[in-house]
Amino acid sequence: MTGSRSGRRVAVIGGGVAGLSAACALAQDGYAVELLEQRPYVGGRASSYLHPGVGEVIDNCQHIILGCCTNVVDLLRRASAEDSILWSNRITFLEPGGRKTVLKPAALPAPLHSTLSFLTAKALKLQDKVAIARAISAFLKGSRPEDDRSNFADWLRNTGQTQRAVEHFWKPVLFSALNEDPDRISVRYAAKVFREAFLFSAEAGRMGVPRVPLSEMYGQVAAAIERAGGKIQLRSTAEKLCHDEASGRWRIRTGERVEDFDTVVLALSFEGLRRLLPGLPDGAPRARLERLLAGFSHSPLTGIHLWFDREITDLEHAVLLDTTVQWLYNTSRIQPERESMRDGHLIELVVSASKSLVPMERQTIIDLAVRELSLFFPAMKDARLLKAAVVKEVRATYSIVPGLDALRPGPESGWPGLILAGDWTATGWPATMESAARSGYLAAEAVSREFGDRGQYLVTDLPRRGLMRFLP
Ligand SMILES: Cc1cc2nc3c(=O)[nH]c(=O)nc-3n(C[C@H](O)[C@H](O)[C@H](O)COP(=O)(O)OP(=O)(O)OC[C@H]3O[C@@H](n4cnc5c(N)ncnc54)[C@H](O)[C@@H]3O)c2cc1C
Repeated sequence: MTGSRSGRRVAVIGGGVAGLSAACALAQDGYAVELLEQRPYVGGRASSYLHPGVGEVIDNCQHIILGCCTNVVDLLRRASAEDSILWSNRITFLEPGGRKTVLKPAALPAPLHSTLSFLTAKALKLQDKVAIARAISAFLKGSRPEDDRSNFADWLRNTGQTQRAVEHFWKPVLFSALNEDPDRISVRYAAKVFREAFLFSAEAGRMGVPRVPLSEMYGQVAAAIERAGGKIQLRSTAEKLCHDEASGRWRIRTGERVEDFDTVVLALSFEGLRRLLPGLPDGAPRARLERLLAGFSHSPLTGIHLWFDREITDLEHAVLLDTTVQWLYNTSRIQPERESMRDGHLIELVVSASKSLVPMERQTIIDLAVRELSLFFPAMKDARLLKAAVVKEVRATYSIVPGLDALRPGPESGWPGLILAGDWTATGWPATMESAARSGYLAAEAVSREFGDRGQYLVTDLPRRGLMRFLP
């Protein structure tokens, strides 16, 4: 440990992806780190737990990453857990009746690598493809400052997108990734995700799904933090955070315990940070944060877990078109090692921006999901539903509305020794695990600067391939 670090303590509040990333980078670089997480497991909004209703460990919702999520991949590498991700370079779109469209790369230079499968896509007609091609050429130019002031619904209208292009392409691809309705999506972020996933390179667009439950995957990161000398305190809620003027340190109260730290990383959701603000010193930094946080709002996401007495499809995952349910994940195929722990074949369905499902009864949602699956898979005729779980995450993500960038702070809170992290901070990414991992690394770099060091943890983006190297 260097002289500036010795005897100085860093606390990270929050054991989601942001907090784990900050704590892992710092612990592995020799800082004395302690992570406090209120729940009995790590992962935050990307976690798994024993569901009492079904008696099995389930993810709160299936999470995916893309090849361009370099910082999540780096976090898993730090924990020797890269093998936890199952990668695939194809997306299957299914129409009711079972007709299939597969988007996959071919040996053409980016951004043309998916062109062949796009041109032969059965789920789109010629006029839809022409409209999408027009939109892609607009995205090729990159986003402009004014794109953060425009909403994606207007943009779809202005670029002449057909109803089918919206329903069979933009909705499953972008509304899902950004978890919002198009009138509440900033064009800047639609462009960002589309360019990363479809244009920059085939590698950037690969889709990755965890082969193990989420808290097990991120539990490997927690174990890496402990191996590096960091401490993980589960079931530890930071109830109050205040500044001790005399010592210049930050004081955290968790239940009966009160402890002082030189530096604190607040790796919380925006609403989690809001709860701790009243204890912080009155003044300009607090007023600024209160103003910024007031501009954030939530969008819900619903995961539907269904156990059948037989396999209903051999696909690992698929987009389901023209139904309420948007994505299907065949968990039994994705996580075959856990099959012996399961009572039946597990299918997970995801509904993004699921505002219509929030007020719905659990059984109504299950009936709807089973009915919709029957439209795609003949095996559903004889399949028997053994059990089901519905997880409504009402505060799943923040809405990436136009203008939000002006409200996303960097890691510096305005108070010395208090650093911000979380998917909602200024990372240039929407509400994703990648944004959380980036924010954690940026926060760790800010901690390092506080100690007079120059730690660099953020990982660079994948190189652009083919013609994309020459475009802005
Ligand atoms: C249903 C759902 C599906 C999603 N799907 C995807 C997907 O497919 N791909 C993707 O990339 N992203 C997805 N996301 C988004 C992704 O999960 C989040 O963007 C990311 O996990 C946020 O991480 P975070 O660390 O910033 O925040 P959080 O995960 O919210 O972490 C904050 C942590 O702080 C803890 N905490 C709060 N207050 C305190 C306190 N006072 N003391 C101690 N601990 C505290 C919380 O328990 C939590 O663990 C999804 C999210 C949801 C909910």
